[in-house]
Amino acid sequence: MPRERHPLNPLSPRSTDLTRRRALLGGAAATTLLATGTATGTAHAADAKDVDVVVIGAGLAGLTAARDLAAAGKRVLVLEARDRVGGRVLNLKLPNGGTSEGGGEFIGPTQDRIKALADDLGVQTFPTYNTGKNVLYKDGKRTPYATDGLLGSVPPIDAAGLANAAAVQALLDDMAKKVPVEAPWTAEKAQEWDRQTFETWLRANAVIPSARFLIEVACTSIFSAEPRELSLLYVLFYIASAGNESTPGTLERLTETADGAQATRFVGGSQQVPLKLAERLGAERVRLSAPVRRVARGAGGRYTVTADGVTVTASRVVVAVPPPLAARIEFDPLLPAARDQLAQRLPMGSIGKAIAVYDTPFWRADGLNGQVVSDAGTVRSSFDNSPPDASYGALMGFIEADEMRAYDGASEAEVKAVVLKDYVTYFGPKAASPTGFVLQRWDNEGFSRGGPVAYAPPGVLTQYGAALRAPVGGIHWAGTETSAYWCGYMDGAVRSGERVAREVVAAS
Ligand SMILES: Cc1cc2nc3c(=O)[nH]c(=O)nc-3n(C[C@H](O)[C@H](O)[C@H](O)COP(=O)(O)OP(=O)(O)OC[C@H]3O[C@@H](n4cnc5c(N)ncnc54)[C@H](O)[C@@H]3O)c2cc1C
Repeated sequence: MPRERHPLNPLSPRSTDLTRRRALLGGAAATTLLATGTATGTAHAADAKDVDVVVIGAGLAGLTAARDLAAAGKRVLVLEARDRVGGRVLNLKLPNGGTSEGGGEFIGPTQDRIKALADDLGVQTFPTYNTGKNVLYKDGKRTPYATDGLLGSVPPIDAAGLANAAAVQALLDDMAKKVPVEAPWTAEKAQEWDRQTFETWLRANAVIPSARFLIEVACTSIFSAEPRELSLLYVLFYIASAGNESTPGTLERLTETADGAQATRFVGGSQQVPLKLAERLGAERVRLSAPVRRVARGAGGRYTVTADGVTVTASRVVVAVPPPLAARIEFDPLLPAARDQLAQRLPMGSIGKAIAVYDTPFWRADGLNGQVVSDAGTVRSSFDNSPPDASYGALMGFIEADEMRAYDGASEAEVKAVVLKDYVTYFGPKAASPTGFVLQRWDNEGFSRGGPVAYAPPGVLTQYGAALRAPVGGIHWAGTETSAYWCGYMDGAVRSGERVAREVVAAS
């Protein structure tokens, strides 16, 4: 898939058009960048560096940590495996020259830290397109429905199902209030809730099939995992986490567009945030194409961090990568068993995004807002990803959990065919002929291996949760998975970076 061009987001290494890349990056600096595959602007075949803190991973968590550590006077270096910053936040170049997002995209109320960061960097926001009717596709029947009535955006299912779904939602919110976001494993009923899957609990509580459908579709669109894969305690924690210090989390805030987690988008695409943050940090503090392979503690307690092309010594290490990716780094001495077993047990969800581009957002003329809730097909939820000026139309569909796994190994043409078939079902025959199509599959990305978040199956939080953030000597843990609020979201990543920087400063 094409990526946006930027000095910290160069074209994929697959591209060998040197002249074009030089032109994009400009002059001698570009030549150095191309020669080294880094953004540092100096030649460094197997460089050796010495800093106060090494940060592993230039996602929002790692970059935020580096910003705060540098502000506290620490010499800091971020080592990033990819040839770009942003991690699970990625701008995609559309064939018509427009920009869309392959990863994290939306923000909403109580996501205060990502908003503050974007404001500080001058990245503007705009409301997600949300005018007109949603489409419910269920049991082979397509039903457009208004979202501004008494039920908000709740799809028009049968009355008994609605009542059951409302009761289940209220119960989940209520149970979530009893889960301490800093330490869900200390909830009074933690053992009972962590011993069952979300599916087991749903079978007992969402007894009307249409209610079960609604909660299941919410589950896969939040976690990109099936209810059978998730611990009930983890689901309750995630709901509790969808708020801030003064506003308790709710399931509704996770699922809603208006006033919810999908309310707002970034002008120019969400990757503007990490790109500008990295720019502010300066190229000398962010090293690209440097996957970390080994972290070793030496005499005197200093760490040697070995990455491709560079070896760095430091007194502290911040690991700002998802836990299952951190488990691929060799640690010497070995990490405590609990920390390693935790990382072994937190799988990534399975997720992709399919963006079809059209000359116009034609569905708007039919009174539709581009959002779908469906019980069939490869894409079961979608959004209108057209730009704020609607100069072209873009439909973005999520491919999640079982649906994504079924197509991880398929060709792009095969995925395109099934996705467009779904779009035709939801939006009519015009959807069959996009002017462009872009696919982003996170399960196949070597330094993410899925998304949007590493989730907890049963038994993990209560047994190993305490190891999630506990520093190991001078090794500290960040990343959205470690955040008490908005775990799994860009906001959680930023919060985790801020928290880990405070932790490191306090400890050193
Ligand atoms: C499809 C999709 C949709 C999403 N939608 C939303 C949304 O709408 N709103 C929202 O708020 N969030 C959303 N998210 C989640 C959000 O993107 C993430 O929570 C957030 O970006 C995580 O940031 P992070 O810094 O914790 O981790 P990451 O972004 O994963 O950063 C980790 C970095 O570490 C690097 N790395 C990995 N291993 C190594 C190594 N060995 N050495 C060096 N570097 C390494 C990776 O390349 C990466 O750059 C979505 C995610 C996906 C995938």
